[in-house]
Amino acid sequence: MNLVWYRNDLRVAAHSPLQAALSESSERSSGPRALAVYCLCQGQWDRHQVAPLRRWYVLESVRELGEALARRGIDLHVLEADTFAAVPEVLARFAQEHGVTHLYCNREYPLNEKQRDKAVAERLRGQGVCLQGFDDGVLVPPAALRTGKGTPYTVFGAYKKRWDVWMADHHPVVTPAPPESDHRGNFVGAAVVDRALKSLSVPEALTQQWQSGEEAAWQQLDQFVEQSLEGYRRQRDFPNIAGTSGLSAALSAGTVSVASCYRAASQAMADAGSRDGAACWIGELAWRDFYRQIMAQFPRVSRGQAFRPETDLLQWDQDDERFTAWCEGRTGYPLVDAAMRQLVATGWMHNRLRMVTAMFLSKHLWLDWRRGEAFFMEHLMDGDFAANNGGWQWSASAGTDAVPYFRVFNPVRQSQRFDAQGRFIARWVPELNGLDSKQIHEPWKQPLLAPDYPPPIVPHAGVRERVTTAFKAAKTQFDQAQSMGSAMENNMGNSKKEKA
Ligand SMILES: Cc1cc2nc3c(=O)[nH]c(=O)nc-3n(C[C@H](O)[C@H](O)[C@H](O)COP(=O)(O)OP(=O)(O)OC[C@H]3O[C@@H](n4cnc5c(N)ncnc54)[C@H](O)[C@@H]3O)c2cc1C
Repeated sequence: MNLVWYRNDLRVAAHSPLQAALSESSERSSGPRALAVYCLCQGQWDRHQVAPLRRWYVLESVRELGEALARRGIDLHVLEADTFAAVPEVLARFAQEHGVTHLYCNREYPLNEKQRDKAVAERLRGQGVCLQGFDDGVLVPPAALRTGKGTPYTVFGAYKKRWDVWMADHHPVVTPAPPESDHRGNFVGAAVVDRALKSLSVPEALTQQWQSGEEAAWQQLDQFVEQSLEGYRRQRDFPNIAGTSGLSAALSAGTVSVASCYRAASQAMADAGSRDGAACWIGELAWRDFYRQIMAQFPRVSRGQAFRPETDLLQWDQDDERFTAWCEGRTGYPLVDAAMRQLVATGWMHNRLRMVTAMFLSKHLWLDWRRGEAFFMEHLMDGDFAANNGGWQWSASAGTDAVPYFRVFNPVRQSQRFDAQGRFIARWVPELNGLDSKQIHEPWKQPLLAPDYPPPIVPHAGVRERVTTAFKAAKTQFDQAQSMGSAMENNMGNSKKEKA
């Protein structure tokens, strides 16, 4: 029996493992076509700080997947394993009970997922099960592109050049969903999913704003390509305009495949009107691949370490009051506060604002970026380890290709530039509704018109100097430690030689 193991690829179309399981099963026998499983690891979700809204999205999407597979004659079982550590045992038992001979799945790249998959592979191989992995989660497999020195790319610009060449040679194939069948399968996991959904406490006001599942993701992709792709480059930076795809939750849970997105954008490129917007959007899909390959090839970023080790020597402040003010949108900087309130109220935040708020936390408030990274995960419906970690490290100047440490966004200038009329701010910070479109960016200049709004939590002036000094000191300390380390190594080497 062939088994498809679903993870963050909750769809039936453009799904290589499902395709392979079905075609290889019909080659092998005329019996039941294939089975599918999803392992529900709620304890792991807790450890990975997965937002309740994201859990809702995933569970509802699993439910839709179960029904879509049943219409194709395939049973979807939902197996409960508290954490990843329990998965090998749970899967091995299932495989034995159902006579599984072949397991098909898409690879995942963060460290815990890789360790889980290694343990599963060892366990199932011991039972004689053949395993086959695919890379539908990315457009270019993580280890496919190497620099001239044979090392992974750590600078996006150079990576993107090679990525474009690869994509020109490997146009992704998007396989249609397998046809529906007269023989209906069973969604065996329905009760488990219902129970898990009931145990979630997500306000209906939050879930009502979103649609889960593959069908909704396709509709969203079509609508984006039709209505917004052409203007994407011009509009993507303005939070008050719905100028981006809003597909991040779908992409990270795999209700739509990145290959389908790429295909849709490339087709639109054939239309001269969409060329510029489509190329720009494809660039974002390349960023997504880039952070996945970083995660796959530099396990330290999965361990909470900075990509640039010298930045782990920075002495962050431990100010809980400042952190809470940031979380609750009470910093006194309107754009930052509007963004944080949008995140908590909707489970999503615009990309420009993710950069602004992340840089504000790490540079203005001088708080460890890992605290912000965790808070984002706890609230984002699209919470995605690689993209979130990459975005946070970039903003805090701790990561690959990071923004230089001396570059600090001025939150007022960002506000005047990207929300010039202050409409986004007015929507989320009603205390400022008495101010006009010019005043709204600097409410402290009109304290009588916004009496309920706090003054700036820290001044912007002086932040750049403080950050520059701290980064330079950390670099010096790091370099000294490195040279002491190599001097010690040399000395030890010499004394060993002397003894010999
Ligand atoms: C601090 C910070 C944290 C972030 N956390 C996440 C996260 O948890 N999950 C997440 O999916 N994205 C994250 N991003 C990247 C980006 O902000 C979101 O992908 C984007 O805002 C989602 O909106 P969209 O789907 O409309 O994007 P679009 O502009 O339509 O882009 C299309 C797709 O490309 C991918 N993408 C776009 N920008 C990036 C990027 N910078 N890095 C990686 N992939 C990208 C996403 O899958 C996105 O859905 C983060 C960025 C920053 C700066």
